[in-house]
Amino acid sequence: MAWRILTVKFFVLCLFGTLIISYFLAISSMVVSDGCNCNDPPTHSKISEGENFFEKQARNSGHKLGILVPYRDRFEELMVFIPHMQNFLKKQNIVNHIYVMNQVDSYRFNRASLINVGFELSMIDGCDYIAMHDVDLLPLNSNLSYAFPADGPVHLAAPHLHPRYHYPTFVGGILILKRKHFKQVNGMSNKYWGWGLEDDEFYVRLKEAGLNITRPQNISTGTHDTFRHMHDRLRRRRDMAKCYNQREVTRKRDRQTGLSTLQYSLESHRKISVDGGDQVSLLEVRLYCDRTVTPWCECTPIPKTSEKSTLSPRLSVISHGS
Ligand code: UDP
Ligand code: MN
Repeated sequence: MAWRILTVKFFVLCLFGTLIISYFLAISSMVVSDGCNCNDPPTHSKISEGENFFEKQARNSGHKLGILVPYRDRFEELMVFIPHMQNFLKKQNIVNHIYVMNQVDSYRFNRASLINVGFELSMIDGCDYIAMHDVDLLPLNSNLSYAFPADGPVHLAAPHLHPRYHYPTFVGGILILKRKHFKQVNGMSNKYWGWGLEDDEFYVRLKEAGLNITRPQNISTGTHDTFRHMHDRLRRRRDMAKCYNQREVTRKRDRQTGLSTLQYSLESHRKISVDGGDQVSLLEVRLYCDRTVTPWCECTPIPKTSEKSTLSPRLSVISHGS
């Protein structure tokens, strides 16, 4: 009897031992496996042949970039922009999502408010940094990095690289910044309807907050071949009209409006894909305009038959270059 009990015990022990050994063997074979687990994101730091600096950096970063594109009536540009950006960012291994904020109300275009809208939505999706990005400006030089900023905002479309704007305080075109910095300055002003100056006002916000703006260094290309600016000035006319007291107000730093005062409704949020690429968010945005604060959100002159208004539109247009 004792012999039988001993045999059973020995058998159970052997079975248990075999189980433990096969468990460890399975684990170790998973660790050393060379096979492609293609759906898994790369998690360890093996540097494959041909991987460049950007790939290595971004793969380990754990950050997510929201590309915020203020938009209205630029369909051809958008169809070039989306695949170009997706390919460009893929080469740098930048985890990203593109948000196209299409202004569908009938007010004048408001680039800054659309960026504020895009910021709010990208935050919900977990983006921890953003690129404010013109739809008609394509990066061509692969050394232009869209990586998470090491410090303050990174102005990619720098004055020494942008095809058109070369003044030292220019921060338009493409500006990359951390979520916390955009929040810190209360986003962009909502007072800028029509073309221009909203980016210059944002520059003052950044400076007043003590944020250090950096620009790409050691770029071997110049103003003609660092970016492609898909902008025919006759076909895509800039709305440079100034009416009411727009000129006076928009010259000054705005301490009243920004992210905290943003008012809009989101008419739709569609996901679209171009050329079989990743999905992009297409947002139909209806902005709100308080005409007692910014009557210049509409510059159309009041018809002669209507009652005399104390607020004259005083429509004027300044001429501009290429
Ligand atoms: N934009 C737009 N529709 C417009 C006006 C502007 O989509 O009617 C957007 C678009 O992303 C564009 C950006 O705002 O690239 C800046 O406007 P624009 O190209 O006129 O300015 P520029 O920098 O060329 O002076
Ligand atoms: Mn342009």
